[in-house]
Amino acid sequence: MPSTNADIAARDLRVLWHPCTQMKDHEWLPLVPIARGEGVWLYDFDGRRYLDAISSWWVNLFGHANPRISEAVAAQARTLEHVILAGFTHEPVVRLSERLVEITPPGLTRCFYADNGSSAMEVALKMSFHYWQNRGRREKRRFITLANSYHGETLGALAVGDVALYKDTYGPLLMDVLTAPSPDCFHREPGESCADYSRRRFADMAELLERHAHEVCAVVVEPLVQCAGYMRMYDPVYLRLLREACDAHGVHLIADEIAVGFGRTGTLFACEQAGISPDFMCLSKGLTGGTLPLAVTLTTDEIYGAFYDDYEKLTAFLHSHSYTGNPLGCAAALATLDIFEDDDVIRRNRDKAARLAQAAAPLAEHPHVGEVRQHGMILAVEMVRDKATREPWPWQERRGLTVYRHGLEHGVLLRPLGNVIYFMPPYVITGDEIDFMVAVAAEGIDLATQ
Ligand SMILES: *Cc1c(COP(=O)(O)O)cnc(C)c1O
Repeated sequence: MPSTNADIAARDLRVLWHPCTQMKDHEWLPLVPIARGEGVWLYDFDGRRYLDAISSWWVNLFGHANPRISEAVAAQARTLEHVILAGFTHEPVVRLSERLVEITPPGLTRCFYADNGSSAMEVALKMSFHYWQNRGRREKRRFITLANSYHGETLGALAVGDVALYKDTYGPLLMDVLTAPSPDCFHREPGESCADYSRRRFADMAELLERHAHEVCAVVVEPLVQCAGYMRMYDPVYLRLLREACDAHGVHLIADEIAVGFGRTGTLFACEQAGISPDFMCLSKGLTGGTLPLAVTLTTDEIYGAFYDDYEKLTAFLHSHSYTGNPLGCAAALATLDIFEDDDVIRRNRDKAARLAQAAAPLAEHPHVGEVRQHGMILAVEMVRDKATREPWPWQERRGLTVYRHGLEHGVLLRPLGNVIYFMPPYVITGDEIDFMVAVAAEGIDLATQ
């Protein structure tokens, strides 16, 4: 007998514990078992399909089961599935590193691999701290982060993030950080431009740096969009000012492009829009086109040089993960970069972003929408109780969940962050699919705000 959604879900709930989930919800909220994927579509066991409007947690770039990426992985699996990366190396990791150095902002010349975004953040945090130790700056041991930021779930990454829902419970386990107000333009005054607001907020960061630079290793930011922080957006001017201030104060800049990298904000990397190079750039999610877990932390010759010495000096970065630089992941990443080049993806995404803007524009007039905001291929719609004051709906009402359920009933996978409905679709989405996706979300928003 072929499997059904109900069979798979029942078996699942006996043995699994799902990520970021109150498992008790599944007493009334059905799990959605997926049998296969193709392009923007996911197909369940009962013959229904769902347009993946969130790229399965922002990882998928070129559609599910993308033949070009799948073929590259299959060929690599027949050749070399994995090999230790200490003392040994392999061609896919060398080629990928060469290409990453070429396409990332100037000055990023060294690639250190991990297997998920949080781990890439841990690498950047440890490397920055360790750099200052190796340089004899023992007092540098703190990090500055932005309010409402998100950098992952492992303890170091969680400590430099600021989403209360994920962080507060673990407070006693986390290192103490300095938090600057977010440049998030949702809070700008009426009539104030996003650039002016971001610039105004920078004054607080400048003051923190002024007071604490002597004890600070690095400032950690998500360039342009705080994705898990409700898709809040800010102006590139903030990054330009931050780069200058970090240089002036002798503090590293860590750019977490795990979510915004690989074209999400309209340029290959978000830092390009500010014309800056960070000291560390963390990449994951889209790196393999959403096919395999892989992450990389890029850094500069200057930082690499502070670890490069005779063994007995004990200055080496003795950090590793078992699957560091996995060849299958590298093959998927190389195929992903080929697609970017061959298909002129960044340029073609401009038309798709314009179509998305056009489809979502009417939502700005909705009586319970406080803002429609966009950076390239990310568009977010913020539901509010009161349009004039932007007072939010109480979180306990879980209004986003109504939109989620409406989406599933009508064939669209949306996964609102609280009261924020957003679209971050695979780049292979068509114009008609964009219209369909936004129309279903708009109905869901009507339903959720009654
Ligand atoms: C998802 C995400 C991470 C964490 O990556 P994982 O692979 O989930 O550990 C870190 N930073 C940002 C900005 C992210 O969106």
